Amino acid sequence: MKKSHGPDFRRKLKFIVECNVCRGTGIYTGVFHQMTCENCHASGWVCGETLKTLPLIDVVQVLNARLREALGEIAKFNRAVGGAHQQYEQNNRRGAGGSNYTGD
Ligand SMILES: [Zn+2]
Repeated sequence: MKKSHGPDFRRKLKFIVECNVCRGTGIYTGVFHQMTCENCHASGWVCGETLKTLPLIDVVQVLNARLREALGEIAKFNRAVGGAHQQYEQNNRRGAGGSNYTGD
């Protein structure tokens, strides 16, 4: 079997925006019940270009990419905070109470 595509064709992620029917919650509150939003298949996201429902597989891929990015950012941030914290403790060690009171 031959591959008909070129090497590693990457699927382009869709541009998505918050669903304006449920305001991105995926749920919409009816008179008595909360219902899943049909406009966005309860994902809270729709196509950013047409503002129409996207297949969930498209939404999930975008959300996954964003989540992974966000987790990476959080990990970076935590490392930065840890570094600052260590530095802060080092700075704190120097020069506590150096003066002598001679009492004359
Ligand atoms: Zn919706």
